[in-house]
Amino acid sequence: MAEKQQIRVRFAPSPTGLFHIGTARTALFNYLFAKKNKGEFILRIEDTDLERSEKKYEKDIIENLEWLGLKWDGEIYYQSKRTEIYEKYIKKLLDSGQAFWCDHTKEELEKEKKEQVALKQAPKHICNRRNKAKQGIIRFHCLDEKITFNDLIKGKLEFNGGLLGDIGIAKNEKTPLYNLSVVVDDAEMKISHVIRGEDHISNTPKQIFLYQALGFDLPEFAHLPLILGSDKSKLSKRHGTVSVKEYGKQGYLPEALINFMVFLGWHPGNEEEIFSLKELEQEFSLEKINKSNAIFNIDKLNWYNGHYIRKMDLDELTKKCLPYLEKETDFEYIKKVVALEQERIKKLSEIGELTKFFFIDKLNYEPELLIWKKMTLKEVKNNLEILQEKLSKTGDFSQKSLARTLSALTEKHGTGELLWPLRVALSGQKASPGPFEIMEVLGKEKTLKRIKEAINNEIKNI
Ligand code: GLU
Repeated sequence: MAEKQQIRVRFAPSPTGLFHIGTARTALFNYLFAKKNKGEFILRIEDTDLERSEKKYEKDIIENLEWLGLKWDGEIYYQSKRTEIYEKYIKKLLDSGQAFWCDHTKEELEKEKKEQVALKQAPKHICNRRNKAKQGIIRFHCLDEKITFNDLIKGKLEFNGGLLGDIGIAKNEKTPLYNLSVVVDDAEMKISHVIRGEDHISNTPKQIFLYQALGFDLPEFAHLPLILGSDKSKLSKRHGTVSVKEYGKQGYLPEALINFMVFLGWHPGNEEEIFSLKELEQEFSLEKINKSNAIFNIDKLNWYNGHYIRKMDLDELTKKCLPYLEKETDFEYIKKVVALEQERIKKLSEIGELTKFFFIDKLNYEPELLIWKKMTLKEVKNNLEILQEKLSKTGDFSQKSLARTLSALTEKHGTGELLWPLRVALSGQKASPGPFEIMEVLGKEKTLKRIKEAINNEIKNI
């Protein structure tokens, strides 16, 4: 390979579906490699397949790259706007006789393939009607020779060119197919390292033939390990994966997704698990990418998300929780509610369900829930009345002070016996933060109102 001055990598998604974890990881690794090496990270939208490419997917990719913080350098390149460049190279290959028209029909090719498969041969097409008519597609003949390249992750890889035959490179003089457009663009854009998913390894020998035919220098290649589900099958929705946008909607934080994704293939060489994007820009290297497949584990993603939620500044977290909460309520009140759950939640979207009792006027719960263990209803009522009496005379509703105020009572009547009915009266839930925490947020008036409601309505209803 000729000496390249600058590290330039590209992320080259096809806008034919929503931006998902696998594609986002490819973007991340390219981004990190560029940052680490003070290089450039190019975004190229591979939209030559007009039937399958859609604007909405392109928008989804761009918006979510931005959301993840993976900012590309310079303009966005669109293959659909580069027709003239491809045309020039298609002509070059046709003129030199390295490419030719093949007018074999779909049916003929299908038949040929079936026969080869029946004979246990690897299917390939070698056209015996080169340039008979300017119809069908434009093909390129791969020589029957060994192709080797040194993959920066997989090591030395060897392919038999003879198995490839005549590969399709363009639909017509203006419309390249993937293998040609990618080679032309990578060469024209002076891409130094092609970093992409392992599923593209089989395309690489075809591309190397094209680099050679066009007289281009070869870039370095690095193929990232596959991402599999926990059952070791190809990652799919079954494994709980959704698009990056959907993760965002569910309340996953970009920093958690970044940290999670980098471990889908990369390791730091020590026990460290927490890395910000900035730290990764320093730490990342291709040498530390595993050869073996990565396993997608949603619990790990939840763990990361919980970690970043706990670390977040409360004001910021509260703002991020607003879409999942009662927006009409006072921000300071919401902040107190969020603070109670900051340690517990794994996803922002959980906050709505967990804290809804803070935002409603009248709780709705099964009265039986008020009963602690083997208590009788009379005892429950009695204990709530004791609490009502005490709390109505209490001024300071801070957690600490409340705990102190009620300590003599809990000692006398039993912690569970007193605090379970109280907690349920305040929350209407089987599980919730403790009663002191809730009372501090609700304040005296609401607290007493809820206790009264429990005594009057709920207990009467049993
Ligand atoms: N558009 C191709 C894809 O989305 C890019 C492959 C490559 O990086 O060469 O898979």
